[in-house]
Amino acid sequence: MQAAHYVGGAFLPNDPATTTFPLVDPVDGSTVGQVPEAARETVDAAVRAAREALDGAWGATSPEERSAALHRIADEIQARFDAFVDAEVSDTGKPRELAATVDIPRAIGNFRAYADLLYGRPEQSYSTSVPGWSGSGQALNYTVRRPLGVVAVISPWNLPLLLLTWKVAPALAAGNTVVAKPSEETPSTATLLAEAIDAAGLPAGAFNLVHGHGTNAAGAFLTSHPDVDAIAFTGESATGSAIMREAANHLTPVSFELGGKNAAVIFADADLEAAVEGTVRSAFTHSGQICLCTERVYVERSRYEEFVSLLGARARELTDYGPMISAAHRDKVLSYYRLAVEEGATVVAGGKAPHFGDRRDEGFYVEPTVLTGLPQHARTVQEEVFGPVCHIAPFDTEEEAVRLANDSRYGLAATVWTRDLSRAHRVAPRIDAGIVWVNCWNLRDLRTPFGGVKDSGIGREGGTYSLDFFSEPVNVCIQV
Ligand code: NAD
Repeated sequence: MQAAHYVGGAFLPNDPATTTFPLVDPVDGSTVGQVPEAARETVDAAVRAAREALDGAWGATSPEERSAALHRIADEIQARFDAFVDAEVSDTGKPRELAATVDIPRAIGNFRAYADLLYGRPEQSYSTSVPGWSGSGQALNYTVRRPLGVVAVISPWNLPLLLLTWKVAPALAAGNTVVAKPSEETPSTATLLAEAIDAAGLPAGAFNLVHGHGTNAAGAFLTSHPDVDAIAFTGESATGSAIMREAANHLTPVSFELGGKNAAVIFADADLEAAVEGTVRSAFTHSGQICLCTERVYVERSRYEEFVSLLGARARELTDYGPMISAAHRDKVLSYYRLAVEEGATVVAGGKAPHFGDRRDEGFYVEPTVLTGLPQHARTVQEEVFGPVCHIAPFDTEEEAVRLANDSRYGLAATVWTRDLSRAHRVAPRIDAGIVWVNCWNLRDLRTPFGGVKDSGIGREGGTYSLDFFSEPVNVCIQV
C-alpha cells in the first residue's frame, strides 16, 4: 500500500523529488514503505481545493445527495474490506480480528450512521408575537443549519480509520469540505479511504488528504491555516494545547478528543469474575492503546487481594497481543514500567519487554503489566502511559472510591462494577468523565455523546452532537 496525497480529486504522484519518510512495521521493526511528507504548498493546495468545492459542487448538494454519497462511500469501503484490514494490520500490528471486527466495520458504520442521521435532526421554529411592535406584531422564526466551511481533521494512530471517519463522515454530512491528515505512523487506510471516496464519485475537493508529521509540518501547516474554518482533532492533550494556541490566532473553533487515565471502580458486591474479565478487556485490548482503556483500578478492600491475584494471573496468560506503535512509544511505556518500580510499585504481572524467539523480538512489544502499591500521587498513577498497564489500589468507602476516581487531570471514561443498582446510579454521575460504563466497557451506540471532561477534551462527538459541531445554526426571522 503506497501512501499518497489526494488533493482536488486526484492522487499526487510520488516522484523522486518527493520528500518521504519510512513506514515501519511495528511487528518486527522493518521498513515496509515510504510516506510522502506534505510541504506547506501541498497543504495550501488542499485547503484551496476544499474551498473551491465548498463554493462549487459539494456546497450545492442537498442533504439527500450527501446522504446518498455517504452510503456510496460505505459501499466502497465494504467492497475493499480485506484491503482495509490488511492495511490497518500492517500499519499498527494490531490483531487481525480486531481490525476485522472493530476498526473497519465501525468505519463503514460511521458513514452509514451519518447518512441516516441527516434526517433525524429536529429543526426549530417559533411563532413570535411582540405587542406594541410597529408592523403586524407577528413574526416567524426558524433555524437553518449551514456548514462551517473547510474543516481540518487530524487523527491519531491507535484506531486510524475508525477515528478518522468518525470526524470525516459527520463533517461531510453537514455539508463541509475536509482536509484530513492522518497520523504519520498510520497513513495506509486513509489513502484507501481517499480511493473509496474517489470511487464513490464525490466532487473534486470535497475530501482531501495530506500526509506528514505534526509539529512544524503538515499537521501544524493545516491547523494554523487562515482559510481553515474548524479543527477536529483526536490525540494527546499536549498536542491539543499546541493546536489551540495556533487556532487562537484565527479564532478557529475546535473539537478535541484527548488523552485519558481512566478509572475502574470495583465494589465488593460486583460479579468479580465479570469485573476481572471486563478489566482484562479494558486494560489490555489493543495493548492498552485505546484512549478509553483503564489504567487505574480501585477495588473495595474486602475483595482487593482476590482481584489482584485473578487479574495478575489473567495478564500473565495473555500471549496473542500486538506491539506498541513505534520504538519511541515502546521506550516510553517501558520507561513508565521502570518509573513505577522506582516509585515503589510491586509488579504483579509483566513489567518488561517479552521474548518470543521469533521476528517479533525486533518489534515493539511490551508485556501486559499489573502494578500495585503506589500512592495516588505517583506519576505512574497520574500520567497517561497509553500501554497495556494498570495499577490496582484498595478503597474502603463509596465516597473514597469517587474521590480517587476523580483525582486526575483527565476525565474521559470510567467503569463501575457493582450489583447494587442504586449505588450504580449514585456513583456513575459523580465521576468526572464523559462516559461511565456500568458492568461493561466500550459498549458504544453511535448516537450517544462521546468526549471527555478536564484535560480529556473539548466538546462532544456522536449522533447529532457531531452534526452540531460541524454546522452553524442561523436564525431567520420573517415578519408575517
Ligand atoms: P498525537 O497528539 O501525538 O498525534 C495526533 C495527531 O496530531 C497526529 O496526526 C500528529 O501528526 C498530529 N500532530 C502532532 N503535533 C501536531 C501539531 N503541533 N499541530 C498539528 N497536528 C499535530 O497523538 P497520538 O500519539 O497519535 O495518539 C495517542 C493519543 O491520542 C493518546 O493521548 C490518546 O489518549 C489520544 N486519543 C484520544 C482519543 C479520544 O477519543 N479522546 C482517541 C484516541 C486517542
